[in-house]
Amino acid sequence: MKPLQIVVLSKTGLATATLVADFFPDAKLFAAEQIASEKFIPYKNFSELIKRLYKENFPIVALCASGILIRVLAPLMSDKFAEPPVLALSPAGDVCVPLLGANSGANDLARKIAEATSGIAAITTSGELHFGINLLNPPEDLKLINKENAKSFISKLLNGATVKLHGQHSWFSSSFLPFSEDASLHIRIVNGSAASDCAFDLDTLLYQPQPIKNVSFEKGKEKGRLSIVGIGPGDQAHLTLAARTKLIEADEIYGYHYYLELVKPYVSKQRLFPTDNRQEIARAETALHSALNGHRVVIVSSGDPGVFAMAAAVLEVLEQAPERWNNVELDIEPGITAALAAAARVGAPIAHDFAVISLSDNLKPWSIIEERLVSALKADLVLALYNPLSKARPDKIKRCIELLRQHCEQQRIIIVATDVFRENEQVKICHLQELTCDFITSRSTLIVGSSKTRSFNLGARPLVYTPRHY
Ligand code: SAH
Repeated sequence: MKPLQIVVLSKTGLATATLVADFFPDAKLFAAEQIASEKFIPYKNFSELIKRLYKENFPIVALCASGILIRVLAPLMSDKFAEPPVLALSPAGDVCVPLLGANSGANDLARKIAEATSGIAAITTSGELHFGINLLNPPEDLKLINKENAKSFISKLLNGATVKLHGQHSWFSSSFLPFSEDASLHIRIVNGSAASDCAFDLDTLLYQPQPIKNVSFEKGKEKGRLSIVGIGPGDQAHLTLAARTKLIEADEIYGYHYYLELVKPYVSKQRLFPTDNRQEIARAETALHSALNGHRVVIVSSGDPGVFAMAAAVLEVLEQAPERWNNVELDIEPGITAALAAAARVGAPIAHDFAVISLSDNLKPWSIIEERLVSALKADLVLALYNPLSKARPDKIKRCIELLRQHCEQQRIIIVATDVFRENEQVKICHLQELTCDFITSRSTLIVGSSKTRSFNLGARPLVYTPRHY
């Protein structure tokens, strides 16, 4: 994509524009000549400038009302595949609206800009909202060959059809496309000549792998660094010294907004990029690009970054094209994972063999979760269960408790530990027969004792442990 052109209409947008430019090192900044400071290229006529940039196919973000942009560009709009991304950004940076060019990257740009300004990307393309990706706008290392089929393909998907993936690419596998084995729609990743055979099948989208251009790296620029940092369960005392040092030395910190709140004590001039919890791949890519541009970038995960967290997402992106990221130094700083924090609060329930299972079916089918749960219970392992609840699947925890009741005795010891080492910490010890969903939240970890796990009171304090001997 050509460099982003940032156009400021009035004084109120100047600071926001500078913030966005920091995030796009090759961007150009324009401001009306009466208000332009030295960072900005002065212009005389707003609509002339916008029209020229549009005709030259530059991605444009204008800090003004969307109506102004629409009126300026309306006479020029015709071909939806040829148009560059055009975005309106509110001068305070709180909302970024991709107006044109959803098929040439406008939505991704909107998300990146929203990250830079801590604002919202107002994405309206329905396919992308449903599936997390825009099938018309693949990453650089894939090319959509039969674009003409995409419209009907996407509308079938939106009407409930499922799709089978032939080939492998993390862009698809980390999306929310409705995959199934006996699907009526097909996505094929094909090489060269094989492409033509099924290019005319309306129910097939063909993608061809593309060689990736090496991203240029300015000589003399300091090597960038990406640190994936575990911040532990939540309080400062349980954050490692290594993690703290990385946070303090960072230029930029990325992460779920709640985790960024938790590391606020270490933030002074670092730029913060709060993101949604589901946008892991996009977050990893953005952070890697910034590291490639010479920044010291930190991605934070709660607990340990390797346990149901960001480290694997970053490695997925790296594996796609390792040669591309040669100039990024990578390090991963471990942290105290929730299971260990929760266990420490009640004694030593995981003193022996144990299994850690996430109950989230965002990335794996629920059937596998049930299978693993039952196998671990049969093996009489102590269990640490993460992600017990989400708004999207309130029933799954009930099903999980049902399985526990089928496979364990009523007296089995269960610990529900919520917000451990954070404000509002709640740790409950109970027997399986008393367990209800009522005190389980999305920030709880459940520890299910093995058949040997015991509890007793030390004064008024209840303690739980799993003996070392059988
Ligand atoms: N990487 C994290 C896990 C992220 S998955 C780690 O290693 O801890 C998110 C899940 O982690 C939550 O649903 C919850 O089950 C658990 N979790 C994270 N922090 C927690 C805390 N302070 N107290 C209890 N559970 C926590």
